[in-house]
Amino acid sequence: MRLTDAQTGWRDRARQFASEQIAPLADQIDQQQITPASVLVAMRENGYLGAALPARWGGGGIDPVSYGLVTEEIGKACSSVRSLMTVHNMAAQALVALGDRDQHQRWLPELCAGKKIIAFALSEPNAGSAAHAIETQAVKLSDGYLVSGTKKWITFGQIADLFLVFAHYERKPVALVVDRHSDGLTVTPAKDIFGTRGSMLAEVRLDNVHVPRSHQVGPTGMGISFVANWALDHGRFSVAWGSTGIMQGCLDACVSYTQQRRQGDHRLKDHQLVRRHLTDMLVAHTAAQAVCYRSACLREVGDPRAVMETAMAKYHAAGAAIRVATDAVHLHGANGCTTDYPVARYLRDATVAGIIEGTHEIHQVTLADYAFQRPYLR
Ligand SMILES: Cc1cc2nc3c(=O)[nH]c(=O)nc-3n(C[C@H](O)[C@H](O)[C@H](O)COP(=O)(O)OP(=O)(O)OC[C@H]3O[C@@H](n4cnc5c(N)ncnc54)[C@H](O)[C@@H]3O)c2cc1C
Repeated sequence: MRLTDAQTGWRDRARQFASEQIAPLADQIDQQQITPASVLVAMRENGYLGAALPARWGGGGIDPVSYGLVTEEIGKACSSVRSLMTVHNMAAQALVALGDRDQHQRWLPELCAGKKIIAFALSEPNAGSAAHAIETQAVKLSDGYLVSGTKKWITFGQIADLFLVFAHYERKPVALVVDRHSDGLTVTPAKDIFGTRGSMLAEVRLDNVHVPRSHQVGPTGMGISFVANWALDHGRFSVAWGSTGIMQGCLDACVSYTQQRRQGDHRLKDHQLVRRHLTDMLVAHTAAQAVCYRSACLREVGDPRAVMETAMAKYHAAGAAIRVATDAVHLHGANGCTTDYPVARYLRDATVAGIIEGTHEIHQVTLADYAFQRPYLR
């Protein structure tokens, strides 16, 4: 695919930024389970937090291909930092598409500038893949709702200023923006997550939190079908490109390692079976990138197939990233099982990519519908 000058510019700037300002900290972020404030500031000041949000509200307004390329570069450097982009963008995109004029004016300028972070709070202890099973309840008041429930695994919940929370009001799903400083809201950090360990996950408890009526996004009853699904579509796009970034990182690590490492008289790279692994990794990365480009191009023109093709891209790229990262650990031998090399981190982060924004199995079920519709043939 031929990139425009603008797209190449975004990619190259993100590559330089990520390799200079994020990659050197990736192991520290993983081991200490914290993304330093300096990284958040750098992401904000370089315009990456609001890059895909509308220019009208102060975002970068960049096209999907450019955004994908930026996400790939940041994802290659550190999946935890990529996950900040993912959640902030997906929740803010739902506000852009489904929020009203007052909500735009109230929240978008700071979200687009990255001055405030918004997290996506759907999952609960008893509701993951089956989002409609959420138990958080909203009770109506004259001026809003009283919300009670527990949200779990909330990426960057430890530092988010706002939460896009999903609850049931009389069995109808509603989406509500909840301020971190609301009375009755408590944030408990989640520690020792397997992958994207620096993504500062939290459990968010709401105990009779008063949420003004003006904080409801979208109509009552459409909180999941419209608002959450809109956000998740953006999240999948980001995770798909982040997964190609992981694959690129694995490939770079293996090219470097197999050239240097010797066993007996030979460098690893001269063994046929090692070369086969490298070939498979290269092809997997290139194929995943192609699927991601296709979804970006469909998004660019507003093609109705974009949602399913984005789901396809996420399913394919996350699965390929797990296989590639597994091979990358394998090619590093015992060194691959240590923190001296990045490949174990890549494998853990790829595994998370296969779970978030819809697991493999959920995609395997839903994408079959698309196969029956056959619009992909057009
Ligand atoms: C690092 C990390 C970050 C996260 N960040 C967020 C966040 O910011 N916001 C948020 O709301 N959530 C977040 N999550 C939660 C994530 O969205 C859920 O983990 C995911 O939706 C899966 O839900 P679950 O963990 O409850 O697994 P379950 O739904 O219990 O699934 C367990 C297994 O059963 C399979 N399964 C479930 N249902 C079906 C079915 N119908 N058919 C076939 N197989 C099925 C699944 O594929 C999986 O293999 C995060 C999770 C992780 C690990």
